[in-house]
Amino acid sequence: MASTMMALVKTEHKRGAELREVPKPVVGPNDVLIKVKASTVCGTDLHIYEWNEWAEERLGRRIPQTMGHEFSGIVAEVGSQVKRVQPGDFVSAETHIPCTKCVQCLTGQMHICSQLTILGVDTNGSFAEFVSVPELVVWKNDPKIPYHVAAAQEPLGNSVYATLVEPVHAKSVLIYGDGPTGLFAAGVAKVSGASRIYLVGMSPMRLEIGKKMGADLVLNAAERKTEERIMDETHGVGVDVVLDMVGRQSVLDEGLKLVRKGGRYSAFGLPDGRLSVDMNNGIIFKGLRLYGINGRIMYETWLQVSNLLASGRLDITPVITHLMPLQRFSEGFDLISQAEPQAGKIAFVFE
Ligand SMILES: [Zn+2]
Ligand SMILES: [Zn+2]
Repeated sequence: MASTMMALVKTEHKRGAELREVPKPVVGPNDVLIKVKASTVCGTDLHIYEWNEWAEERLGRRIPQTMGHEFSGIVAEVGSQVKRVQPGDFVSAETHIPCTKCVQCLTGQMHICSQLTILGVDTNGSFAEFVSVPELVVWKNDPKIPYHVAAAQEPLGNSVYATLVEPVHAKSVLIYGDGPTGLFAAGVAKVSGASRIYLVGMSPMRLEIGKKMGADLVLNAAERKTEERIMDETHGVGVDVVLDMVGRQSVLDEGLKLVRKGGRYSAFGLPDGRLSVDMNNGIIFKGLRLYGINGRIMYETWLQVSNLLASGRLDITPVITHLMPLQRFSEGFDLISQAEPQAGKIAFVFE
């Protein structure tokens, strides 16, 4: 095998990235080298591509570094200590790499490990011909799942965790955010038996996809009718469940108003900074159950994701609007970096 490969590398402290010939990853005794088949683009990748403040702070001293973290591929090589997978296996990987030593890791909460390393953020990532990850995070895929769908299991896992942290069957669910995780959440709520699904977003194109995913009513936030429409729909009671896939003051305020007393609020979207909250009326008097959703439970969420996809019950392909070779990366990033994004999820696909 050649010792170099093509990779999309963040090279400079400004917008953009560069397709470069780089050394193939070194495979340590506990590592698995994977030939990437598909790698999907995440909001995090966009932040790194655009190079915002967070990116400078987190990656400023690390670059040049290969981007990307959501992927699927075929095991090419395994380290001497690897036992669970072998060359030829079709796999994806949890992108939050736990330390295995902290209190959380030791008590079944690896997804909130206190020393998490993130693939493609703290390490070289998957927008490349090959990626190397520790055996611990490798997840074997059902061969029935297409490459580009299997690549999106990581963000789909966020949606599954946010949606199903409590059962949703026969419940009304209000989803904020028409990005991929919000759109996936509509599909997850649908196949899990939610009685009514409302989706609030900003992009008419993505809201259309939301309908295909199972949203019964889509609302454009720009029209500022959400409060009125939801209260009307629920006869003044409010919804059973709010999934906040955005993380913004206006969404928090409205979501806490629209969730019914005794309801549940899943907070997944990350705000830029501190938000203020109406503790009395939004949480305490409501008897609200508020869940912070970080990553995916390892590996309960992955099993749920696999089951939903392999059974064919959940189809996420309407959300994955673009498949393209890595060479067309700048076109891909342009589609999603506009004020009104022109794509759902983008997948880079490899030969
Ligand atoms: Zn991601
Ligand atoms: Zn840990």
